[in-house]
Formats: sequence, structure tokens, C-alpha cells
Amino acid sequence: MHLDPFELHRPTTVEETVRLAGELAGRFDYLAGGTDLLPNYKMHLNLRPHLIALDRVAELSARTDETWGAMVRLADLERDPLVRGRWPAVADAVAEVATPLVRASGTIGGNLLVETRCFFFNQSEFWRASLGYCLKADGDRCHVVPQTSRCYATFSGDLAPALMVAGAEVEIAGPSGRRRLPLDRLYDVAGDGIHRVTIAPGELLVAVHLPRDERGSPGRYLKLRVRPAFDFPELGVAVSGRWTGDRLDALRLAVGGVDPYPRRFDSLTDPLLGAPLTDERVATLADSVARAVRPVHNTFLLPDYRRRMVAVYVRRAIAEARKGVAA
Ligand SMILES: Cc1cc2nc3c(=O)[nH]c(=O)nc-3n(C[C@H](O)[C@H](O)[C@H](O)COP(=O)(O)OP(=O)(O)OC[C@H]3O[C@@H](n4cnc5c(N)ncnc54)[C@H](O)[C@@H]3O)c2cc1C
Ligand code: SF4
Repeated sequence: MHLDPFELHRPTTVEETVRLAGELAGRFDYLAGGTDLLPNYKMHLNLRPHLIALDRVAELSARTDETWGAMVRLADLERDPLVRGRWPAVADAVAEVATPLVRASGTIGGNLLVETRCFFFNQSEFWRASLGYCLKADGDRCHVVPQTSRCYATFSGDLAPALMVAGAEVEIAGPSGRRRLPLDRLYDVAGDGIHRVTIAPGELLVAVHLPRDERGSPGRYLKLRVRPAFDFPELGVAVSGRWTGDRLDALRLAVGGVDPYPRRFDSLTDPLLGAPLTDERVATLADSVARAVRPVHNTFLLPDYRRRMVAVYVRRAIAEARKGVAA
């Protein structure tokens, strides 16, 4: 597999980047660490003739306690003890992404906007051509659910669910300026494996903002995968909670790795606040989340198994987060 030629652009400010993006609309991709994009390019997946590299945009690599630039490397977060102390689910998730080598290059922005995955998509051009391509690249049908015009490719980033339960917001820059939105609203729950975000094509993710008042809440991110040293999530469950004695004061729960977007389940967790979180309530919550997700047969583990593991991982993640309270 080889990389086809492309023209590389290297802006130095956010404003220059966005202007360039406007000029090249529809003909470029942003290049962050390249650990997801470049392997996809080698497989000839949705190639663009221009790449806008973000490595020289100093603002994107800046990090303060609660504002993390989109180009901050995962390895930098992994090494920082403050991240472990303040956002334990995020620390869990970062340490679980791929391998140390990938984390040394991979960035927060690239992880949040990582391409969705599917058996029939993440294949060489030769492999895909032999089957007749698919909706997500070069084709006109889905091999997973053939009777649909929708793509079911799975969102397989580890960081998003963990940052969602931390209450993170993202800062976006586009032609009409900058804006902030809660991270869970970055993902389009009405979309699919192709149209999976709410920001416009070409908009730039500038930074992630973490709320100060959420610091130190006990949390946990648990990941199901086939090879623990290496693989993308087949399921990722993040939890963050606060308790006063037995009373549950706050609970956030987010799930990735089973649908085309990561999701937070506030409608299921909010009714539990203000009362003790008994084993029975946890079991009911876990079963409700498992019923709400829609895994399909496009990754290594079977959908029924992944769905059953949602309930198991929700129970485990809550139990482990609570241990953090007692500690
Ligand atoms: C062997 C291997 C194993 C992996 N395992 C995992 C895993 O277990 N968990 C996991 O989460 N990921 C995994 N990955 C995927 C990937 O390495 C990580 O998600 C990584 O964090 C992506 O970051 P990056 O900077 O390299 O992104 P890039 O590859 O540079 O970009 C990814 C996408 O995001 C877009 N993008 C990047 N930054 C911005 C921005 N600031 N604004 C707008 N768009 C942007 C790019 O255009 C591209 O579409 C794996 C990759 C490999 C090669
Ligand atoms: S879910 Fe269907 S359309 Fe989407 S990548 Fe897989 S085969 Fe292609």
C-alpha cells in the first residue's frame, strides 16, 4: 500500500487555517497526528488532493489546566498526574488508546473526530473492489444492512465517552468565527457512520474545555476489545458520579464503540439522582442502556455479545467509580 501524492499546506494560525479551508472546500482533510487518516489514505479511502497540516498552529498545541488544544498529544495527557487526579475516566481512556507509539503522535482532536470503522470499510482497495465497495467509500450499497441507504460504521474513539462524562465542551472555528458546544452535541445522533458530526465540513476543532467544578469526581472508563495491547474498542463505557454518603448527587454515563456516535444517557441517569443508587437500580439502568444501543455485525465481536457486555460494563464501571469514592 502506498500514499498517493497530495499537496500539503501548513498554516500557522487558526484564522489562516479556516481561510485556507474555505478556499479548498470539499478538496481537503485536516492532518493532525495522521495515525488514522494516513492509514486510511493508504487504503484509498476517500482521498482528497490537499491536506492542511495542523502541527504549526501554535494555539492548537497549547494546554492549560482546563483548556486542551486539539493538537495536544495523547501521550502528554497520559503522562500528566493531574489528569489522573482530576478526570479519572479520561486518564483511563487515554491510556487505553492503541499503543504507546500511536499515542505519541495521536491527538485529542484526531481522536474525537476519528473515522468510523467497519469490516467492509477498513480494507485495502483490492479487497473492497472485489466485493463491490460500499456507501462509505466509492460504492452504492451497504454490506452490513443491504436493504438500507444508511451507513452503520461504528464510532471507535476512546476519548469521547470519557470527556463527555467529564462535562467537556469543544471550541469550533469556522468561517463565521468561533463557538463552543457541549461535546455530546458534536456528534449527530440523527446521523449515521458517514454523517456523524454536527459541525460543518471544514470546521476546525480548536480545543476541549473542561469544567472546573467537575474536577476530582470519581470516574472510570472501561473498554472491551479483543487484543488488550492494541485494538480499537468493541465497546467503551465511561462513568462519572458524586455521592454524599449513600445519596447519589450526580451521575453521567456515556457509551462508545457500539453505535456510529458516542452517546450520553442523561435521560436514564437523571431520574436516579437524590436517592441511594442501589444494586437493583444499577441493574435496571444497565439493562436500559443495553437496550438503547444498536450494535450491528461490522466489527470482530458479535452484536448480541456486545449488547450484553454493555450491561456488564455499565455495572462494573459504576461499581469501580464508587470504589474511588471510598478511597
Ligand atoms: C494500530 C492502530 C490502533 C488504534 N487503536 C485505537 C484505539 O484503541 N482507540 C482509539 O480511540 N483510536 C485508535 N486508533 C486511531 C487513532 O490512532 C487515534 O484515534 C488517534 O487519536 C487519532 O489522532 P490523530 O491526531 O492521529 O488523527 P488524524 O489521523 O490526523 O485525524 C483523524 C481525523 O480527524 C480529523 N481531524 C484531526 N484533527 C482535527 C481538528 N483539529 N479539527 C477538525 N478535524 C480534525 C482529520 O481530518 C481526520 O479525519 C488506532 C490507530 C491505529 C493505527
Ligand atoms: S456499515 Fe455498510 S456502508 Fe457503512 S462502512 Fe460498513 S458496509 Fe460500508
